[in-house]
Amino acid sequence: MEKIEHIGIAVKDLEKSNALFAALFGKPHYKIEEVESEGVKTSFFDIGPNKIELLEATKPESAIAKFIDKKGEGIHHIAFAVNDINTEITRLKNEGFIVLNETPKLGADNKLVAFLHPKSTNGVLIELCQERE
Ligand code: ZN
Repeated sequence: MEKIEHIGIAVKDLEKSNALFAALFGKPHYKIEEVESEGVKTSFFDIGPNKIELLEATKPESAIAKFIDKKGEGIHHIAFAVNDINTEITRLKNEGFIVLNETPKLGADNKLVAFLHPKSTNGVLIELCQERE
């Protein structure tokens, strides 16, 4: 795995949170993107070598809606950049981690992504992401 690519934060109201985090960071988000298939709307902030991703649910059955119902707003996942997501999925499976989607899917920010089940990672949802060519 390479660096932390971004930290994902689940929020109830993306517009309000964009203003809040812009005030915190002293700069605005640089993009908003909806991932229809995941039922989320995201915004991204550039913080040095890493990013912060805010996620708002766009439908009640979205994973973000369920997360907020259960735990409230807050850190939802940590994403790590990988060079070869398929190799990394195989390696992590062999190490005993539970991979939620063994076939990488298209995520926000033009990335191929896969997630590890938090019950195999001390309660932290881990995202692997590889830049798409
Ligand atoms: Zn993410």
